[in-house]
Amino acid sequence: GNELRSQAINTINSRKLSVVKMPGRLEDMWASDVFTLNKMQECLPKSVFKSLHKTIRSGEPLDGSVADVVAVAMKDWAISKGALYYSHMFYPLTNATAEKHDGFISVQSDGTVISEFAGKVLVQGEPDGSSFPNGGIRSTFEARGYTAWDVTSPAFVMETDNGVTLCIPTVFVSWTGEALDKKTPLLRSNAAMSKAATRVLKLLGYSEIATVNSSCGAEQEYFLVDASFASVRPDLLLSGRTLFGKAPAKGQQFDDHYFGAIPERVQVFMQDVEEKLYRLGIPAKTRHNEVAPGQFEIAPFFEAANVASDHQQLIMTILRNTAKRHGFVCLLHEKPFAGVNGSGKHVNWSVGNATQGNLLDPGDTPHSNVQFLVFCGAVIRGVHKYASLLRAVIASASNDHRLGANEAPPAIISVYLGEQLQDVFDQIVQGDVTGSQSKGVMNLGVDTLPVFPKDPGDRNRTSPFAFTGNRFEFRAVGSGQSVAGPLVAMNTVLADSLNWMADQLESQLAEGIDLNVAIHAILKEVMTDHGAVVFNGNGYSEEWHKVAVEERGLPNLKTTADALPVLQQEYIKNLFEQVGVLSPVELASRFEAYSEQYIQSIEVEAKLVVSIAKTIIYPAAMRYLSELSTTIANAGAIGIELDKESATKVAMLAKSMMDAVTQLIDILSKHSFPSTEDHMQFCAKTVRPLMDTVREYADALEGEVADDLWPLPTYQEMLFIK
Ligand code: ADP
Ligand code: MG
Repeated sequence: GNELRSQAINTINSRKLSVVKMPGRLEDMWASDVFTLNKMQECLPKSVFKSLHKTIRSGEPLDGSVADVVAVAMKDWAISKGALYYSHMFYPLTNATAEKHDGFISVQSDGTVISEFAGKVLVQGEPDGSSFPNGGIRSTFEARGYTAWDVTSPAFVMETDNGVTLCIPTVFVSWTGEALDKKTPLLRSNAAMSKAATRVLKLLGYSEIATVNSSCGAEQEYFLVDASFASVRPDLLLSGRTLFGKAPAKGQQFDDHYFGAIPERVQVFMQDVEEKLYRLGIPAKTRHNEVAPGQFEIAPFFEAANVASDHQQLIMTILRNTAKRHGFVCLLHEKPFAGVNGSGKHVNWSVGNATQGNLLDPGDTPHSNVQFLVFCGAVIRGVHKYASLLRAVIASASNDHRLGANEAPPAIISVYLGEQLQDVFDQIVQGDVTGSQSKGVMNLGVDTLPVFPKDPGDRNRTSPFAFTGNRFEFRAVGSGQSVAGPLVAMNTVLADSLNWMADQLESQLAEGIDLNVAIHAILKEVMTDHGAVVFNGNGYSEEWHKVAVEERGLPNLKTTADALPVLQQEYIKNLFEQVGVLSPVELASRFEAYSEQYIQSIEVEAKLVVSIAKTIIYPAAMRYLSELSTTIANAGAIGIELDKESATKVAMLAKSMMDAVTQLIDILSKHSFPSTEDHMQFCAKTVRPLMDTVREYADALEGEVADDLWPLPTYQEMLFIK
């Protein structure tokens, strides 16, 4: 093979497994690095703890005098864990986590130092965040963004090679109070949903109603590639995906990876990740191989949405960092390898509270479970009415490669309900609710196996938004995306639907209509107007795409360029403003920031395509061509006529590739566009297809050029060598 590639393979073959530590006792590891409520209770004066606890439950800002006491306790705890620094962690409008580190050190007038951490630093830090995307909310001269501890998400210490740091999850707002981050809207959306849910529950006749909270359990898919391969693939390093690469002879067609044993090296890596997560109080629960070779999944147990979202960010960080220590690169890109399954992040979401439990739990007899029907109906209405918004919040240049590919849900947002619930809602529409189909039993046809009760929310893997027994699973979310955006959208559309239902109920009750009659009338209206979004069939089929768009009128926003402009529409502006989740200015800033990210990521990739094609692939092709033509000429000189076909083919492919590269360079020099929307469409319709054209020729060359001259690690090598 080629020298670069051989070196990489040698490095991999001589890698030693990291020493497997005996896993510690879960009870000892669990949340040992978190300043938990229990720890706070132990070290805070009773009155201070009580006030803090109340703030945590109500989500109100922390009282200044309380903050001082909490800060000192937090600092002492962190120092006892070896921390010298603290960091406000916040979640800017990228999918990343941002941190700014500050020392506890404070120099006294006599030159001695003490460690100091005052309450005002806890509730209000002031990072210089001017370089974070903010969609124009803050002009740079007023570049002041404040971070403040979100008391509902506990502080923790993180150990890295640079030492131990106290990390404080924070919101990030401008000096005028506008949300510059993903956490602030998530907190607001949860509050809006809680308020609306409480309104509805009161009308249903409940009196003691605890705060309603949304929950989230996010399944994370990822790829592992050996670091020595990645280091010689500029595309993987810079864009997180392969921009070139011929499909391997063996792909995932054997379906042998999904249930396969986890390779030992990967298992050691996973164990390391899990230990770190446990120490941070993140309930990692399942791990397994995914469909594609080299693809894996980790899923934690669900938690309150806000905490789950912070934890999800940590999971992504820890996966990436830990992979490095094990000689891997962890790819969170939605489609790192063309022709191979992509990676998603299934966001499981529900709402509930201490008095009612899980509000999306149908129980055994959903037809008579009014609370469930109302909340489930509200979700259906919300997803139908705001399907375009749900598409917009999962839009990114990278997720565009995955949505609508053969293994991922289509860009058409529909709801899967399953047989039993479909039947109940059909009965509601017909106006005669008689009962629930029994769950049924699954007879496995093997006598020695027990008969399993059939899951009423039977699995449908092709639906972007599936009811899965006691929650919805938003499956179109991308593997690299923050879950905050999708959670904000789900909470917000649910709040809107619940408010609408409360309005309807109030007016019908005022007319003296019986509660049950009113509820059925409202649900009937919901299903009549919004039932078109429910689809239990195969979401991958051509037929569905036709039916969805032509008969049911569901939007099919194929690319990010089509989806993001939804954020500018009037009804979306009204939605966010009415429930108090995003002001029009905040919403506009999101459109700006995300459009810019889309355009930039396509432009960066296009430039990479140009440079890799020109400086890596073309030279390899020319070397091979020269070898071939020299041999043909030499053979001719002694009277042997060799076939010229492959030389001609290499020459033609190389020329065609370079022609496409020239065109790509040319279109990349276009910089002025009438609008951001036009610029995005240009990226989607002109730049991307041309990148694909360059790739087609390059991948064809890979099939022609002598293996020992091919400079880029192949798909086969990257996917199968571990
Ligand atoms: P599957 O791969 O079959 O979808 P997993 O067990 O991998 O199932 O993931 C299911 C996820 O859904 C887990 O994170 C689980 O904690 C989460 N989940 C379960 N119940 C709820 C709920 N009420 N709200 C939110 N998430 C939930
Ligand atoms: Mg799932």
